Amino acid sequence: MSLINTINYNKVIANTQKTNANLVAVSKTKPNEAIEELYDMGQRIFGENRVQELVGKAESLPNDIQWHLIGSLQRNKVKYIANFVSMIHSVDSLKLLEEINKQAAKHNRVIDCLLQFHIAEESTKFGLSLEEATTILASDRYKDMKHVRVVGVMGMATFTDNEAQVRHEFRQLIQIVSALKNQFFTDNNSFKEVSMGMSGDYEIALEEGSTLVRVGSLLFGARNYG
Ligand SMILES: *Cc1c(COP(=O)(O)O)cnc(C)c1O
Repeated sequence: MSLINTINYNKVIANTQKTNANLVAVSKTKPNEAIEELYDMGQRIFGENRVQELVGKAESLPNDIQWHLIGSLQRNKVKYIANFVSMIHSVDSLKLLEEINKQAAKHNRVIDCLLQFHIAEESTKFGLSLEEATTILASDRYKDMKHVRVVGVMGMATFTDNEAQVRHEFRQLIQIVSALKNQFFTDNNSFKEVSMGMSGDYEIALEEGSTLVRVGSLLFGARNYG
């Protein structure tokens, strides 16, 4: 019996290919067997939101999987993922970026990071404001970091059926990424990622310019927790 929804997977892949976006298959709470099934279909980017779960899965699954950490990250846990994580979507402070830089240096790596922005109306969702991000990127401490590469932004829209609102919030993130591009990354072609869109809103996100959609339940079925 299949542990994934193949029809949905093929549809999401087809939709992302239209705009050259990439799919982060969000496998949190799902067993290795389900991940292996998607891997066998060619999927290589997987997203997890808990460090312990991510480490366990990375140890037992193929080496060429690109693991993305998409959930909030405590500074004291960066050390567990610094040797292998491919991208961290949830950078929301200079202190966290400094810790990632420090731990990546120990492994002689450069870790790709996204700045997470607060675009939803819900106050429970966390993330930076444009002003806070500007302060980080303008700081000397950031400029001295050799082991992190800020490659774009991430945001989560409000959980709502109101498509106009979701679209509006995604557009805010696009405005943020272009403002930062103009101010800090004009000569830097690697600053281009916009991580937005989940199972319920990824098609809107792609229409609005997402380059990385983070889709879980459409592929793996509903989660009991997480
Ligand atoms: C769980 C999660 C997703 C995927 O959610 P689905 O609705 O299952 O697609 C995307 N992004 C983040 C940050 C998540 O925690």
